[in-house]
Amino acid sequence: MASSSPSTTMLKPLITICGTTGVGKSKLAIDLAVHLAKKQFGPQGWRGARVINADSMQVYKGLDVITNKVPVAEMEGVDHLLMGFKYPGEQYIVGEWVEDSLKLIHEMHQKKEIPIVVGGTSYWIQHLIFPNRLSKTTEAPQSSDSPWDPELQAAIGALPENLRSIFENLPKEPPSAKIEPDAAFQLHALLLLLDPPVGQRWHWKDTRKVLHSLSIIRSARRRASDIIAEQAADAGPSSQPRFRTLCFWLFAESSYLEPRLDARVDQMIDLGLLDEIKELRRIAELPEHAASSESGDSHNDYTLGIYQAIGYKEFHNYLSNPTDRAFNEAVERMKISTRQYAKKQISWIRNKLMPAVKDANSKEETVSLYLLDAAKVDERWADRVRAPAIEVTEKLLDGEPLPEPRSLSDVAAGLLNVSEKSSNPLDVLQARQKTQCDICTIQDDRPFMVETGPEWERHIHSRAHKRMSARLKRIQSGQQPYPRSQRETDNDTPS
Ligand SMILES: [Zn+2]
Repeated sequence: MASSSPSTTMLKPLITICGTTGVGKSKLAIDLAVHLAKKQFGPQGWRGARVINADSMQVYKGLDVITNKVPVAEMEGVDHLLMGFKYPGEQYIVGEWVEDSLKLIHEMHQKKEIPIVVGGTSYWIQHLIFPNRLSKTTEAPQSSDSPWDPELQAAIGALPENLRSIFENLPKEPPSAKIEPDAAFQLHALLLLLDPPVGQRWHWKDTRKVLHSLSIIRSARRRASDIIAEQAADAGPSSQPRFRTLCFWLFAESSYLEPRLDARVDQMIDLGLLDEIKELRRIAELPEHAASSESGDSHNDYTLGIYQAIGYKEFHNYLSNPTDRAFNEAVERMKISTRQYAKKQISWIRNKLMPAVKDANSKEETVSLYLLDAAKVDERWADRVRAPAIEVTEKLLDGEPLPEPRSLSDVAAGLLNVSEKSSNPLDVLQARQKTQCDICTIQDDRPFMVETGPEWERHIHSRAHKRMSARLKRIQSGQQPYPRSQRETDNDTPS
């Protein structure tokens, strides 16, 4: 686990730093870059580092406050690339960023420099580390002239007449399971016959997903599960990373982080946040922008890129009608949005990045994820963040065994242990299948379905299930089932 075998040392090094806003990611990137400039490291003579921005808001020019850019004065002469080069309203998507970053990383490697990728947009970082992960599973492929998959064709031929006619005339909009339960159930029955793994994945009431899978099958002329399997195979069994990657996750418990985030919002207002928002509003109202919006309401249509920055939407009402009350509400809303965003960032790392890292390391360790405890950053920065990051980085460049990530701190031990989920789409498909609870199913064409795994465990221990089970036993033994109270039928009936 902690060794670097010959083949991993062939991969060139990449350092990534992720985590929520307000934990010191930029500071760590600068500290590392300054340290790496001091001398040559390792037998290959790595020296120096440049920072590549991985924050989807910081790619925009100016607007330093709303995007939380590190002030130039604090950069200590370290180059920050892919930062501040797009105009408001310009879009810049993950695929473009990955391509631009790869070019820069290649240049740096040629010069024996270490690329340090830093930012809160974790999915950008994830797509940079792992190739072929820009999945197309959610899009229906273009209608093709390719021949039907023979097995699928046979399955279609064997469909009962009513289901076959549904398949040939798929509804444009998914039926509501509540209003049209028969239509919903038949759609699901059809998917189960044509593509069992995907059919078992969706609840029959989840008509949008069921219809989407059927649409994929019809336009691709193949099973959706075959397409997913093929994409998983393309990505490689463990989606081999592009680089020998060190991933530093700066983490602070919410009791430390939230007051810091609140203070940061107040500070942003002092630094001129409102002027930037006014400027963004002015740009959004320029005639060429208004003309490009369909509804003509440029405020609401200008919603992409920098216009998604936290603060813009929150201060909308206040700037239209500036009262003290509106101001206080806006500040409060901005603080709430900031905290929610921080939670989302953490859940991405735990639920997406960590499983992908785990998969990638199944054969040999190529991505090493270290959680650094960034609580109390003011007093503990040097020993809890800076020193361990430098130590791990030096070991990697020197080709020495790396420390076990969980050994770094108690917080690391707790958080790096949680996710046993796989990110392989096929595994996800298998792991999250729905199964019918025969006990709770009253009517065969309205099956009561539960996801296998923890949800199933919860369900069979639930009051609702136990009550249905007891009721069934009484019926089977010839007794009258208990009359069901009004409250039960209102609240606890399995639906
Ligand atoms: Zn049940």
